[in-house]
Amino acid sequence: MRRFIVASQEIVRDRVQIRGPEFHHLRHVLRLEVGAAVEVCDERGTAYRGVIRGIARDAAEVALTQAAAAGPQRFRLTLAQSVLKRPAMDLVMEKTTELGVHAIVPFVSERTVARISPEKYAERAARWQRIAHAAAKQSGSPPPTVHPPVSFSEALRVSPENARKIFFWEGEDGLHLKQFARTEPDCRSLYVMVGPEGGFAAHEVEAGRRAGFVSVSLGGTLLRAETASLMAVGVCRFLWGDVRFPPLP
Ligand code: SAM
Repeated sequence: MRRFIVASQEIVRDRVQIRGPEFHHLRHVLRLEVGAAVEVCDERGTAYRGVIRGIARDAAEVALTQAAAAGPQRFRLTLAQSVLKRPAMDLVMEKTTELGVHAIVPFVSERTVARISPEKYAERAARWQRIAHAAAKQSGSPPPTVHPPVSFSEALRVSPENARKIFFWEGEDGLHLKQFARTEPDCRSLYVMVGPEGGFAAHEVEAGRRAGFVSVSLGGTLLRAETASLMAVGVCRFLWGDVRFPPLP
């Protein structure tokens, strides 16, 4: 099914206009015509089936025929990701989207190596959002919201309401993710932090704990930041998400 991502405000009753890069993909890459069946997904992850009813020079009109059945409230995983150097950050955006991350909050902490000037934050966030949208189209996962970078202390504050809060720390030698999962079998919203190439500074670990975060280990090996993020999102989705695996023993 060809999938196109639209802003929910573009959906008016049972019609939606597809414009911009999504229209270019529909018209000039896929060369779809009137009558073609498509899937439309909004930024909240609501998917609709539809049929192209009209194609103009710069937009296509789709009649929405059916909204996807609203499944059980999805497990929502928000990743607070320290800004990494470009290829690693792009990889995190693409792969965690495929793995079903709900939102991504990039942050800058003391040992963040990648340096982005604040006036470039919006531009960089738009680039990451494009990468996430492309991965969502390809994988069928709902597109996550990618926020502009914030400071470490702000990243501690913006956790979703009622979310359990953990930060992955290679210095944690007591609580492993699997053990944490056993204490939270019905978790529906998780906010996880992964540090930069240089790791979390000691005062950041303390600040995380004071803010109610639990430090959790991903095992005895020291993972690269991007590896830790992909493992964290993949394992959390396996443990709590809607991946259709048999329940853990
Ligand atoms: N501090 C490390 C050092 O001295 O090389 C580098 C940190 S590591 C490259 C980047 C991030 O990945 C860490 O801040 C942490 O969030 C996560 N991480 C890496 N290995 C981990 C592990 N075994 N358990 C939990 N988190 C881990």
